[in-house]
Amino acid sequence: MSIEKVRDNVYAITDGSTAGNVTAYVLPSQIVFVDSGMNIPIMKKFRAHIEEKTGKKATTLFLTHEHGDHVFGNQIFEDCEIITSKITLEAMIHSKEHNWTPENLEEWKKNSEDPAALEGLKIVLANKTFEDEYVLADGDVKVIVKRTGGHTEGSSYVYCPNYKVLFAGDNLFNHSFPWGGNPTSNPIKWIEAIEEYLSLDVEHYIPGHGSTSDREPLEEFLTYLNKVITFMKEMMAEEITEEEILEQADKIEYYPPRREEWKALTLKKWYDVLSN
Ligand SMILES: [Zn+2]
Repeated sequence: MSIEKVRDNVYAITDGSTAGNVTAYVLPSQIVFVDSGMNIPIMKKFRAHIEEKTGKKATTLFLTHEHGDHVFGNQIFEDCEIITSKITLEAMIHSKEHNWTPENLEEWKKNSEDPAALEGLKIVLANKTFEDEYVLADGDVKVIVKRTGGHTEGSSYVYCPNYKVLFAGDNLFNHSFPWGGNPTSNPIKWIEAIEEYLSLDVEHYIPGHGSTSDREPLEEFLTYLNKVITFMKEMMAEEITEEEILEQADKIEYYPPRREEWKALTLKKWYDVLSN
């Protein structure tokens, strides 16, 4: 694990050791964390390190969305407010009942690169929700959490205008092909979300996966996403078969996916949304 100092008062782990990236915003009287990753011992160390370094206490954990690689460290923050969009909490409850079964969790543990990553895992849900937007103010520093959808319907970003840092969650996979095959994934909302990020006063964008960046990877992704959507719509208007459209869309150049099977499932999902 290496802790990245994004700028004064903002720290992150983006080296993949927590699977999904995690962030800490140090505010005047407290620390706010965003996402809890999928490595319990590392998340515990991260929290302790930032608390020790700053002499402040964690009060809040924001969750960008419901995927296990962003929420399986929640138990480290049981004494905090764990806040997410209502839609994300509903998705977590659904996963807890259907996907995060003891058998599946055993499977996740086995497949983890770090055998200790999920030792003692306990599913902890958010304990506070918002519909579309939530603002935490501490002195003159604000943290704005806003739901946009995109990667998933509940996906939200966490933006601190004072520090000019935006944590995007999985609406950003910097320099790799994103996962967009979730049942509620929506490429149109995704485009609007990226455009919104670019319209804000931000110097450092922290993605859900990949390295912290300036605007460049966002612009690149936006160009790609617009190209795919325009292409699919044009082909649909000409009544070309789904199979042919997906085959051609697959050839539009972009970064490779982090997992091979992701690309075809993502393009298929985007096609389904556009054709309905
Ligand atoms: Zn995700």
